[in-house]
This record gives sequence, C-alpha cells and structure tokens, in this order.
Amino acid sequence: MEMMTVKNWRERLESEKAYDLVSELFDKIEKSKLNAYITLNKEDALKRAEEFDKGELKGKLAGIPVAVKDCITTKNLRTTCASKILHNYIPPFDAHVVERLKAEGAIIVGKTNMDEFAMGTTTETSYFGVVRNPYDLGRVAGGSSGGSGAVVGREAVLALGSDTGGSIRCPASFCGVCGLKPTYGYVSRYGLIPYANSLEQIGPMASCIEDLILLFEVIAGKDERDSTNAGKEFKFEMKDKKLKIGIIKEMGAKDEVIDKFYEVVETIKSKHEVDEIEMPSFKYALAAYYIIAMSEASSNLARYDGVRYGYALDKLDSWTKYFSKVRAEGFGKEVKRRIMLGSYALSAGYYGKYYLKALKVRTLVKNDFIKAFKNFDVLISPTMPALPFKIGELADPLTMYKMDVNTVPINLAGVPALSIPIGFVKGLPVGMQVIGNYFDENTMLNFALWLEGEIRAN
Ligand code: GLN
Repeated sequence: MEMMTVKNWRERLESEKAYDLVSELFDKIEKSKLNAYITLNKEDALKRAEEFDKGELKGKLAGIPVAVKDCITTKNLRTTCASKILHNYIPPFDAHVVERLKAEGAIIVGKTNMDEFAMGTTTETSYFGVVRNPYDLGRVAGGSSGGSGAVVGREAVLALGSDTGGSIRCPASFCGVCGLKPTYGYVSRYGLIPYANSLEQIGPMASCIEDLILLFEVIAGKDERDSTNAGKEFKFEMKDKKLKIGIIKEMGAKDEVIDKFYEVVETIKSKHEVDEIEMPSFKYALAAYYIIAMSEASSNLARYDGVRYGYALDKLDSWTKYFSKVRAEGFGKEVKRRIMLGSYALSAGYYGKYYLKALKVRTLVKNDFIKAFKNFDVLISPTMPALPFKIGELADPLTMYKMDVNTVPINLAGVPALSIPIGFVKGLPVGMQVIGNYFDENTMLNFALWLEGEIRAN
C-alpha cells in the first residue's frame, strides 16, 4: 500500500473535495483493526474540511489530516493520557503545538492511543488496549506513541508524538515511518501532560523526511508559557555536504537487526566518511534514565487526586481514603510501579544513593556527546535492539526497560535524534537512529533526506 504523504494528499485535493477525502479517511479508521485512536474528532474535522473546500483554510498544513497523541491537550476534545484517571477529561485549552497546527490550517483527525502516561515501550499499558502493528496484527506498534506510529501515512497523513526516552523513535522504527525527538527546548511543552519534564519533547512523525521537516517547522518555536523553551524557530536549509558519521559502539541490537544496519552503513560509505566511536558513560545510561524518569513521574502524578479533574468517586469518605481509592482504581499497574519506585528513590536517605548518582551519570552522558560532536557531524545506531515484539512478549518490566537502551541516552543529554526506516527483516520494519548536535536538526535532517533517497533508489 502506498503511504499517504503531504504531497500525494495535496495532489488528491486538486481534483477531489476535502470533505469527501476526510469522510473516506474516517470510514477507513472506523473499520480499522489497529486500535490506534482513543478519541475521534470527526465532526470538527469534517467542518474544517468544508472550510478548506470554501477556500477558508490557509497555511502550511491547509487541509492536511494530522493525528495528535493523547497526552497533548486539545481544547474541547477528550484527552486521556490512555489512563482511567483521565478517561473523561476535556481540556479547556490547546497545547502550544495544537495552536500552531490549527493556525496552519491542519485538520485534527483524533487523539492517538499510547502507553498510560507515556510509560512503556509497547502501548500495552494503555487503559484502552494495545495498538497493533500495521505489518503484523499479532505484534506491537511500539510505544509509548504507538497510536501515532501506526496511523502515520495510513489513518492520518502526519502525527505528533512525545518522547521521554524513545517514545517517538521506537514506534517510528516498529511501524516503518519517520519520527524526530527534537533538541530539548525546541518545541514548547505547554499543554503536554508531563511524565518526566526534564527529558521530554513533543515531536513530528511522518511517512517521509520531507513531511517530517514540514511538521517540525510548524511546531518548533517560541512560547513564553514554557520556561525551558529556547525561543528558536526552525527553517530547513538544504545542504549537500560530505559528513563525518560516527557509529556508536555501545549501541547494539540482535543479529538480524545489526545485519540490516550494516548493509545500510555500506550505502552511507558511498558518500560519507564513517568511523566508530566509544561512548563509555552509556553503560550506566539506562539505569540513570529510569531513576530520573520515575522520580519526576512520582512528583508529576501527585496531582491526580480525583478532585480537580478526571476519575472521581460518588461518595466522599475522609480525604486520605478518597485520595487512595481514586488512585488505586484510576492508575494502572505500570504507573503505580513507577510512582512507588520514584518516591522511594527520592526519599530521605536514598536520595544520594540513587537520584543524585543518576544526575551525575547524566552529566557524563552529556559530556560524551559534547566530545563526540567535536569530531563527528552525526552519530548513528539501530533505533531498537530488536524487531517489533509479539503482543505479550515483554511481560517482565525489566526486560521491557532494557529495550530502551539505544534511545534513552539522547533524552538524558537533550540532543536531537530521529528514526528513519531502512528496510525490512522477516517482513517487519527496521529503523536507524540518527543523532545530531544540540539545535543542529538541520544537519541530521539533510543526512536523513539523502539516505532516504539512496534507500529508495536501491
Ligand atoms: N519506554 C520509555 C519509558 O517507559 C520511554 C517512554 C517515553 O519516551 N515516553 O520510560
């Protein structure tokens, strides 16, 4: 099946009505087996399509269907974070990125399924059930932005995901699409329901690099409501340059994935200089990531008390009883595990032993990247260490956490990274991770654009 792109959607808009195309898209979604959407925005989307047909929708994404991950707030459209505790939450405001989508004429299709509060690698922790892989319905689409990965090019042209430790890149890799985790601070987090604030970014997902660039240009930029926002806009500049590419030795994968990866490295060598690089701090990165992410999560999730929003009980006992009951019923198992582990790591007596140590590792990881980018323009690795898992395969949480080994160092340092499809093994997609220097998305996107062309030509 040919994937939908901005280009082929626009071509169809020349001869067909947006209203008809969008209705057709919803017919397809309603029959879909992927379980990729939690809430559809049908009525509003059809209204926007009509506006487009009347020439009233203008902008870079005019008439383009975009899906939004369900941890990004949308005004008057249910936003659940795939949790029972927010199953009925209707935000009174739009996230900064959603304001930008609307201002550029995009049509919001709906809210995509995800791991509960973005905690997971397979979308299996969702209160709304697992998302299925478009290439094999018995396998996962990745996570936590599994819904966004699955719909790109199939049930939406573009999608937004969020990435705390790999949640855009993993589903991009597992669904055979492109996904970018921007430099920390490039995209405003205003309206992103937080999991671990110091690690996460909203980012674009698309079926080709050209569309990834377009969506990134729309969402990146200044927003004073997020104090960590860098205030920079992004404008892509085409550059055709021979680059120095580093293969990170510490980032491995199963043989079947590695073989595909090195096949593509040969293609890369036809134009660029390739060398290996050691990043010694990376062996501690996974442990440090989970300590930091869970610590931040435990404090972020304290706000869900069943009083201000979301799941509530009819009967009010004493405050403490009410609070515990709401949380016991409203949160899933994985979320509870992380709240408990995070609270433990932050508690007096253990703070120095775990959290402080994790912060020290974080500094080492950052320093390794700074050093690497003195000699290299971009770094590469397999995005995921394995092919998409069978549903239920990663039952043990530690085994699941280990699957993030190649993606979490990027979030600890705050550098940008994307995943690009590089082919198939046993009929399942494989992704390559391309990592750039701080705020140098331009170089990595130029490289990815070139690589995509070479892979298509081969
Ligand atoms: N799998 C990682 C985690 O569970 C990353 C999730 C994410 O990026 N949101 O923490």
